[in-house]
Amino acid sequence: MFFELTEEQALVQETARRFAEEDILPTLEEEEKNHEFRQDRVERMGELGFLSCVLPEELGGNGMGFLESVLMAEQIAEVSASWRLPFNMQNLGAPLSVARWGTDEQKEKYISGWIEGKKMGFFAMTESNTGSDVASMKTHAIDKGDHWELNGSKMWITNAHVGDAGLLYAYTDREKGNKGISCFIIEPKKTEGITAKPIETKLGLHCSPTGEFVFEGTKIPKEAMLGELNGGFKMCMWQLGNTRIGCAAGALGVAGGALKHAIQYANERTQFGKSISKHQMVQAQIAEMTVEHEAARMLVYKAAWLKDQGKPNQFETSVAKLAASEAAVHAANEAMKIFGSFGFSTEYPAERYYRDAKSLQVVEGTSNIQKMIISGMACGHTDNR
Ligand SMILES: Cc1cc2nc3c(=O)[nH]c(=O)nc-3n(C[C@H](O)[C@H](O)[C@H](O)COP(=O)(O)OP(=O)(O)OC[C@H]3O[C@@H](n4cnc5c(N)ncnc54)[C@H](O)[C@@H]3O)c2cc1C
Repeated sequence: MFFELTEEQALVQETARRFAEEDILPTLEEEEKNHEFRQDRVERMGELGFLSCVLPEELGGNGMGFLESVLMAEQIAEVSASWRLPFNMQNLGAPLSVARWGTDEQKEKYISGWIEGKKMGFFAMTESNTGSDVASMKTHAIDKGDHWELNGSKMWITNAHVGDAGLLYAYTDREKGNKGISCFIIEPKKTEGITAKPIETKLGLHCSPTGEFVFEGTKIPKEAMLGELNGGFKMCMWQLGNTRIGCAAGALGVAGGALKHAIQYANERTQFGKSISKHQMVQAQIAEMTVEHEAARMLVYKAAWLKDQGKPNQFETSVAKLAASEAAVHAANEAMKIFGSFGFSTEYPAERYYRDAKSLQVVEGTSNIQKMIISGMACGHTDNR
């Protein structure tokens, strides 16, 4: 067993740390206040080669893997949970699915735009009445001979209204249950019959656009289908296995960011004649946050390493996602307490970590869904894949 990063991995981590501190941090609070999304920043990530970690080199891959991707996501999210999302989406979302399941034409047409950060990607499963139970979706595509006709809607989709091209999951044969879902690559800005609008009521992640799609008799070309007809559910679960580890890494970053700010404040703030970090109960809070953060880090790195080795990792990925997202929420909650009244103020970052952390218990499979996956495998009901 070897716990040290290689020189290259340490360099990747340092590059992402510098990017987060120099490119994101200086203007972050203002952008969060204005709910501002910066396409130029996604392009900058593309220029730096951040968005092509797991792709084969012939498709533009940079020769890195899931572990490097996790190291970067952690550093970005430690500064900004919002900016972890486009990194994950452009890096581990649509590009990997198209690389695995796409035709040569689809690979040629879409992957470079996503990984250069010039075309915003997305993946759309969730609907207003469909979340954890993906197979309960209503959106469907009808074969009209020379095209598909789409009807339905999607909700809570990252990048919906800024998206150029992304993955849409829809029923093509409802009779077959989850074996009747297909995946399509859609281009909302270029396609009539797709309405995309932002969701403006989010609690946090204000620099990450989230929105809705409505499809009304939308015509999409036959060649827009990704992979096999009715093969979408399997692809969706595979894709979630990739983006879930990115989310776990983001949670690790949020836990680390909340802890860092809490320690800094606890060392500076004086009450009862000494810094509050010298009071035992505050020390206990910091110790608990530290243990959970360290444990989550081991779990996330291990799951990413297993993915890079091509070994079964669904169990470890869910364990890592559950542990890291719960650690992030706990750390953010404790940071709020350590900051006292200033935790309750938007002048300090504690409240932003607290708001953003809550999303991590929901996205890429809620904490209960991770528990279902973990216990199913722990009890031998399903196999680790
Ligand atoms: C910021 C943000 C970004 C998002 N981005 C995307 C995106 O890009 N693409 C996309 O498709 N979706 C996206 N989502 C949607 C997200 O994936 C869903 O919200 C998530 O899957 C949960 O679905 P739900 O909200 O409908 O909750 P529900 O599934 O309705 O769950 C509600 C509660 O019931 C629990 N529950 C449900 N079923 C069970 C069960 N069987 N056993 C025990 N408990 C259960 C859940 O754990 C949860 O606590 C995003 C959401 C947010 C907040």
